[in-house]
Order: sequence, then C-alpha cells, then structure tokens
Amino acid sequence: MIIDAKGTDTLQLALPVWAPGSYMIREFSRNLDRFEARDAESGLQLMWKKCRKNAWAVSTRGANRVQIRYRVYANEYSVRTSYIDQNQAALLGSSVFLWVEGQQAREHILRISLPDRWKQAATSLSPIEGEAEGLSFRATHYDELVDCPLQLGNFPEFTFEAAGIPHQVVMPGAGKFTRSKVEQDMKAIVEACTEIFDHQPNKNYLFVIQHAAKGGGGLEHANSTTLQTRADVYNQPERYVDFLGLVAHEYFHLWNVKRLRPEVLGPFDYNREVYTHHLWFSEGITSYYDNLILRRTGLMSTEKYQKTLLDGFNAVLGNRGDAEQSLAESSYDAWIKFYLRNENSGNTTVFYYRKGSMMGFVLDAALWHHSGGQYGLDSVMKWMYSRYAIQEQRGFTDNEIKDAFRLHLGHEADSIWDRYIFGREPIDFKRYARYAGLVLKDTQDYARKAYFGAAGSRNADGWLVTSLWEGSAAWKMGVQTGDILTQCADKEPDSDWIRDYKPGDAFKVEGKRDGEKMVFKGTLESPTFPRFMWTRDPNATSLEKTVYERLFQEAF
Ligand SMILES: [Zn+2]
Repeated sequence: MIIDAKGTDTLQLALPVWAPGSYMIREFSRNLDRFEARDAESGLQLMWKKCRKNAWAVSTRGANRVQIRYRVYANEYSVRTSYIDQNQAALLGSSVFLWVEGQQAREHILRISLPDRWKQAATSLSPIEGEAEGLSFRATHYDELVDCPLQLGNFPEFTFEAAGIPHQVVMPGAGKFTRSKVEQDMKAIVEACTEIFDHQPNKNYLFVIQHAAKGGGGLEHANSTTLQTRADVYNQPERYVDFLGLVAHEYFHLWNVKRLRPEVLGPFDYNREVYTHHLWFSEGITSYYDNLILRRTGLMSTEKYQKTLLDGFNAVLGNRGDAEQSLAESSYDAWIKFYLRNENSGNTTVFYYRKGSMMGFVLDAALWHHSGGQYGLDSVMKWMYSRYAIQEQRGFTDNEIKDAFRLHLGHEADSIWDRYIFGREPIDFKRYARYAGLVLKDTQDYARKAYFGAAGSRNADGWLVTSLWEGSAAWKMGVQTGDILTQCADKEPDSDWIRDYKPGDAFKVEGKRDGEKMVFKGTLESPTFPRFMWTRDPNATSLEKTVYERLFQEAF
C-alpha cells in the first residue's frame, strides 16, 4: 500500500480485531507477517515497530509517500474471514486491509493484480473508469473499503434487475442450478424486502454465494453480502428454502443493522468489542423477517411458516438458559457467550436470533391488535428507518428504540420491554396467538416420555457426554460432561437408549471418568419442554381474523 505521509513523522497502521456483523474478537493480525516499510520514492527502508497487538508505527524520516508491504495467511473459508487457494481468493476487507490512523475518512484506491488464469474480480466497490479493466476501485473511506468483500477467480455469474437496480450474483463452486429459477426467487425476495422500507438506498448490489461442503451462514454489508451454502442446495427443495431464507436475511440487513442500527454499530471501533443491548432487534427481528418474506412471496407455505413459529415457541420456552439471561444481556455479552459457546451454554444463555425472532412475532401481533388492524411491525421498521437512518443518519439509542415502539404500541411496549427484553419472564405466546384468533395449547407430547438430560455421541469407548441439562435426571445422578457411559440395563447406550423407560422409573448406568469406573443411579423424569400446537377459534372476532390475515398472508 502507498500512503501520503507529507508532514507526518510517524504513521500508525492497524488491522481490525473483529469483522462487523460477527461479534467476536478474531485477532486478524495474528495472520499478518513480513511487514515492511519504505520511502516510496527513494526505496529506502524505514524503521517501524509494533505498538499494539494489531498496530504498527512507522518512522517516515521525511518521506512524502510511504510504501507498506505485508503478507496475510488466508486459509479459513467462511464469510467472516479470508481464504486463498489456487482457484480463488475470497477476501474480507477487515481481515486484510490496514487502516492509517487519521486517514480513515480519506478516499482509498484499490488496484488488484490477478494471476493469469483468473479472469474475474467481483466487489461492490465503485470501479475507476479508464483504468485497467475492472481491476481498479474507489472507496470513499476505510469503512467502505472493508465493507465490500472481494471474490477473485473464475466463477459463474449473472445479473438481474430488481427494485430498480442491478443485482450481480457470483457463485464460486456452485453445482448445477437453473439460473431462471434462482433469479426469479431472488428477485421476489429483493422486491418484498424493499417494499417494507419503500426505499432502495443502493445503486447496485452484489451477492457472493460461496459453496462449500461444510460451513454456512452469511455476512451482511451495506451494498453486498457473502453467503455460504452447499453446492447441491439447488436440487434439494427443503435445503433450497433454507438457502432462500438466508438470502432474505442478509438482504433485509442492508436496512436493518447496516443503516437502521444501534448507535455503536457504525462507524465502528475496530480496535475492541462494541456493546449493544439490541442484537435481538438487529439479528432476531431480521430472522423473523427472513421467514416472513418467504411466506409473503409464496416461497414458503403457510403450513411450514406456522410450524417454524411453533418450533420457535417450543425452543424458547424449553431452553433453560432463557431463565438465566435476558435478551438484552445476551446481546451485550455476545462477545464472550454467544460467540464463545461451550457445553454449558444451553443452561445459561439465550439464543438472541431465535428468541429475538419470536419477539418479532410478539411485536407484530401486538401492533396489529393495538392498531385495530391498521399497521404492524413493517410500519415501525419503516418509521425508525426514515427517522434514524435517512433523516438523522445515525444509530438509535436504548431509549429511542423503546420510544419508537411505545409510540406505535402504547403501554404494552413497556411491558414487553420489561418482561421479555430486559427481563427473563417466559413469553406468554398464548396471549399473542390469541390476538390472531388462535388457541395455543401445549400438547404435552414430550411429558409422557422418560428424560435423562444428557446429550452426547458414540465413540469407540462408549457414549461420550457432550452436554448436560441443569437439573435433569443425569445432572442429579452426578453425570458430568466428558464422562463415557458404557452400559445401562445390559445394553450399550445409543441415542435412543431409554425408549423402554417411563418417567419415574429407576435407572442405573455405568461409565468411566478419566479411566475410573463410575456408577450412576437415580430416577428418570419427564422433560419440561413444551410441544405447542394451535387451532383457529371458530368464534374469533373480526379483528382477530384481520390480525391473522396480516400475519400469515391468508384468509382466516
Ligand atoms: Zn444476521
């Protein structure tokens, strides 16, 4: 890199320790070596030293321009890191580009030189007209430079128009797919998302769809996204719907989180963790919409859509950690808990994607009910977007998001905030289903089965306990994570080893801990997980029927 150094004795350069959108300290500088600094005109070497784990200080010795060279090890193929092999380079700016202290707001120019065999360079940065074909780009500032991932190599690509702008899709490693089908489905998603905010802030958009046997997920950027899926996803209807959900999720983020955002989420502090109570909103509400968008576009049936909601209710009310941690805490501590999960996480933490998504249902139902069928969550999203992202061009505070909901929902917003977002009360899903004329019931299907309370997997020695549900039968018997269970009632343990038992049955299991023989005895219990279903109330009021129609896009 070449840096303007006029009038500076020392240049300080640094590499982010995290990638915006993924709330974990990744220490990208551990992959950087062969750092070297020269006077760009004379070629003389300049002295430098490390001044933080992720920063370098260079003495300019009066140079007008300084040239920095360094090497980055890139061997992690994910949307949150960078990867290079003989066929492609998939680069995430925050893991490879240094910033120059004090010069972040200046224009940055990127020139790429490709190996001979590689013909394509995809990025949402603006190309510089008149320079080497498609290989020179301009970013208005450092934030934009690192918010535009680069995909280099040779890969299938196509472009479609939707919501008034071109959308480029590049698909490294894709298996067989029917372009017209993928294009039609993505176009429907783009238009349904744009309709909610009634505003398309981009002039162009890039989808990078990486294909890998393992891995997955996506990372949002202001005018692009990187998604990862399996090469054969296009021929597997169930998985394909999940993939479309990911497309909807990341596209929705171009508004929610990239522009409508908590105040610490841009401009970013790349040196350290940034804390917000509202990832349940940025991620959870986005997760609520990813399925809802599929429902609205007809890409997901009402039946499947309702099943995903019921599964969500079951999972939220069945998760022990929901009693220990609030949604707001889960968001704040994402850096040390959600992103650094261990075998005890299910007992102590909330999954803010899942519970936040269910809060989307709660808020949407409550808004349609409160407004007498006049407006739902879409209106609040649009209101907040126009106020904070467009008019004021800043992030919202803790009070402002609550006020936005209070304005549209009245005092029920306070109760939802106190009980379910900052509090740890179990969500009263029955009440919110009732708003849509649905009678929600726990069928207690699970309660009749015996429950041990340890999860694990088979290995050569027996059944390795990988996690334990606090307060369960296994917990009370003294089983620990890492124990190897070898025998119960003369049988070798397997995943369904207690199928012949009932709650209340005496139970004995043998095992090993650190090579020592262990015997565990106790009583099996019934699980506390709910299993919800709902039915339409034949006496539903006309408002309840309207709320149902608004939530599910079909007649009651
Ligand atoms: Zn997300």
